[in-house]
Amino acid sequence: MAEKRPEQQQRSFWGEEVEQSLRAAFDALPHEVPVMLFTEKGRNDVLNTAAQDLLRSFSKISSKIVLREFDLNGEEARKRNVTSAPTLVFDPDRYSIRYLGVPYGEEGRTLVGMLLLVGFRTGNMNEQSIKVLERMASRREIKVFVSPTCPYCPEQAINAVKAAIERPEKVSVEIIDIQSNQEMANRYQAFSVPQTFANEVLIAYGAQAEELFALSLEKLEQQTVFIPETDAELVETDVVVVGGGPAGLAAGIYTVRSGLRTAVIERGALGGQVATTPVVENYPGFNRVPGKTLVDILVSHALEYVQIFQGEEVVDIKTGPRIEVRTGRRKFTAKALILATGANYKRLGVPGEMNFMGRGVSYCATCDGPLFKNRKVIVVGGGNSAVTEALHLHNIGVQTVLVHRRNALRAQEHLAKNIFSNNIEVLWDTEVLEIKGKEKVSEVVLRNKRTGEVYPFPVQGVFVAIGYEPSVDLARSLGVELTPDGFIGHDSHHRTNVAGVYSAGDVEGGYKQIVTAMGQGTEAALSVFEDLTHPYWTSEPEKQAGVARV
Ligand code: NAP
Repeated sequence: MAEKRPEQQQRSFWGEEVEQSLRAAFDALPHEVPVMLFTEKGRNDVLNTAAQDLLRSFSKISSKIVLREFDLNGEEARKRNVTSAPTLVFDPDRYSIRYLGVPYGEEGRTLVGMLLLVGFRTGNMNEQSIKVLERMASRREIKVFVSPTCPYCPEQAINAVKAAIERPEKVSVEIIDIQSNQEMANRYQAFSVPQTFANEVLIAYGAQAEELFALSLEKLEQQTVFIPETDAELVETDVVVVGGGPAGLAAGIYTVRSGLRTAVIERGALGGQVATTPVVENYPGFNRVPGKTLVDILVSHALEYVQIFQGEEVVDIKTGPRIEVRTGRRKFTAKALILATGANYKRLGVPGEMNFMGRGVSYCATCDGPLFKNRKVIVVGGGNSAVTEALHLHNIGVQTVLVHRRNALRAQEHLAKNIFSNNIEVLWDTEVLEIKGKEKVSEVVLRNKRTGEVYPFPVQGVFVAIGYEPSVDLARSLGVELTPDGFIGHDSHHRTNVAGVYSAGDVEGGYKQIVTAMGQGTEAALSVFEDLTHPYWTSEPEKQAGVARV
């Protein structure tokens, strides 16, 4: 049998069937796809030849793939700032999309995807992703590290290419094969693939759903949950839950499971205080779990059932048989309302606290802790929060001193022990009188309550962790009765004194644990279901007992 010529060998690599499908797909492209290939003789010959063979065979399949080849040391490479070979540049007059290396193996899928998307001149992204990308006001330079043996890499690489086609004026992309570009992979410490950087910030490990990728790109940090947005001006529901912490999300899951259409409205971050808790201990099922991880799990679960409206502040509520809730963006109607508005950080109330907020005074060690690495801070408080935050700060290299107004911690013994075993300094019987500084915090004035001594204590940060105050402004505006301690008053079914209005979670007071908040949210949801299907107000004994009325 006659030996095959190299070209025929290349063709047999594709297989007739694959080649035919590629030809059909490329011939159908509405636009030509200009591809520039930069190679270099005498260096990386194997890779350069492989890239030439591969791209030439693609360009032979269809006249729509227009290949031009250049030398890395030539004028064109200088003009286009191409510095390594092989490099592929796709339709450079329109887009900023490059592939550094040889798109072999699994990466063949990336190459085909790139050619098709560029040939159609459409990112083919879904509406939600496009909305997110449209919000990006500044440029994004993406680097996706991939390898030919990684089956997940093409998905992430294509996400990046889609974004570059969707927003060509804002997004540039380099897909980087780590095997051909080991020096760069080392520099970025990309030791697993796919890994995605944007503007030199790591925004994703692994492949992401398209919307999550878009969100990570917009926010320039890894996102794990995507909440779909809607333009609807009127949302008709059976239940509106105000508050997207553990209580509100649990309530949402249970009302929807009971067959009630539900919207959860959250003005800030989902997960409430849990989202900013460094580590949650003993949430049943988890010995220790980062607060953010727990929130992501919870939100992902809730999203399977309930519509969540994040970043919307409730500005007005009308109660009655038909409840109306207004946010800055839309109106919701409902038959029942669950207030799961949680609690806010308690302030110390000392001079300088408000003045230096964000300039040394913080209520969130997870958020702001890294800014204080190798600096000295005090954590004020003696409960679980103060101890957890002090341990977190200590662990990330912040010089931490715990300041407590009594001589014993309120925190659970197991947590408290860690303060001592880590040699974290504790100033007992000490209160903060004032926070001082110029532009930023530079010292606090402390008073030893036992000796009466007042003295300055130089620090760069003050972390306040002295508990929470319930958020009851909405409740108050509806005429909901509060307890003497300022929490929402409610019966054993979480009904308030206002018909159709229920409460759940920290805003009710009590133990303030994640599990208890979830339990309260669940109970409130089931009460709503019971009340809407078998109205308690028609039951004589309940009426006489004086519970909430309609
Ligand atoms: P907390 O338990 O109420 O403790 C507040 C601490 O701040 C107390 O030590 C209190 O001192 C002190 N404090 C209050 N007002 C102060 C003031 N004006 N000046 C100085 N110190 C003041 O609050 P928390 O630690 O934020 O915890 C809240 C709830 O969340 C608790 O139920 C807690 O168990 C829970 N939590 C659980 C975890 C977990 O991992 N499972 C983590 C964090 C929080 P006194 O002791 O003198 O009253």
